[in-house]
Amino acid sequence: MGAQQVREGFAALYGAAPEGVWSAPGRVNLIGEHTDYNDGFVMPFALPHATTAAVSRRDDGVLRLHSANLAGDAGGVVELSLDALEPQSDRSWTAYPAGVVWALREAGHPVTGADIHLASTVPSGAGLSSSAALEVVIALALNDLFGLGLQRWQLARLCQRAENVYVGAPTGIMDQTASACCEAGHALFLDTRDLSQRQIPFDLAAEGLRLLVVDTRVKHAHSDGEYGKRRVGCEKGAALLGVDALRDVPYDGLDEALARLGDDEEVRRLVRHVVTEDQRVERVVALLESGETRAIGPVLTEGHASLRDDFRISCPELDLVVDTALAAGALGARMTGGGFGGSAIVLAEAAEVDTLGKAVEEAFAAADFTAPRVFEAVPAAGARRVS
Ligand code: ADP
Ligand code: MG
Repeated sequence: MGAQQVREGFAALYGAAPEGVWSAPGRVNLIGEHTDYNDGFVMPFALPHATTAAVSRRDDGVLRLHSANLAGDAGGVVELSLDALEPQSDRSWTAYPAGVVWALREAGHPVTGADIHLASTVPSGAGLSSSAALEVVIALALNDLFGLGLQRWQLARLCQRAENVYVGAPTGIMDQTASACCEAGHALFLDTRDLSQRQIPFDLAAEGLRLLVVDTRVKHAHSDGEYGKRRVGCEKGAALLGVDALRDVPYDGLDEALARLGDDEEVRRLVRHVVTEDQRVERVVALLESGETRAIGPVLTEGHASLRDDFRISCPELDLVVDTALAAGALGARMTGGGFGGSAIVLAEAAEVDTLGKAVEEAFAAADFTAPRVFEAVPAAGARRVS
């Protein structure tokens, strides 16, 4: 949805032009899955799909919210009082933007109210982080309008706090940082311990490559509980090994660490995934920086095997995307995001992408799965003011 459309939508709703329009993208993670709550490495890039918000300040402690993506009973303008914002009191979509306002105010920033109208092209619940796009666009708009002077990484932290504490979803820092900090034509190498980051050139077109995102359109019901279990299992592994986080287990000390974990097979598997995944991120960074883009394919595929066999968060739909794509000649493929559904990515020669996409669609039809959404991902810009 374009900035002009969102600007006009705002004016129609609230009877005046907005002070400005901002945009923040969804993301896919190239490599580094379930490492962000282990203080490890991740490497997301921003999608062209984004949430666009038109915003004006208010000074009366009122927050008015409207999303063009919601129709019918769930739609309409929602009016909230800033003084009444209370963590985990809101189970609807408004918890995300209200949570950002709450987190800003709680950190002492003088946000006195706002009128907000937004529209998003990020598929919701597909593992492409529509939630972070929503949070970050609001944080950036309020940062600009109220002159808060916060840096991108600080906005990401506040958005994570909004999602963890206010919404009540235990997510790491990757999604918000990706949406806030990514740059077009690059992937973001992020150390989730100290939030240090490096933009890594990832210009697929220049290399004659393309990357597909396949949204399986399934979300298996137990995913939240399973995510929590993996987190707890990782914390247990770190405690047993006497480190602050699994990030502190070096790759060349993995065998020794696994031996020390004895016969706790589940924790051993979780630890093995996290430690090898951090090393895969470092390998991908090194390959991209030396211009060997094609060589990242097998590393992506290794990452999928680790998530499937060790972390055990894949599902038949995700495995089918990966197996079909590889059989049809992809350079590499993996599930991306939290798991148990959501999306997979496929790296391929540009000339082969259409055939690959078709092969995946046919395999889904043959398996009687819901038709997937297949689209191309081009590394896009992070959050910004658009008008
Ligand atoms: P993901 O971040 O993978 O898309 P989440 O479950 O974390 O999935 O976030 C999806 C939720 O975020 C939606 O259920 C909705 O509450 C909220 N949301 C995201 N984008 C919008 C939007 N444009 N309008 C209203 N709500 C949205
Ligand atoms: Mg999310």
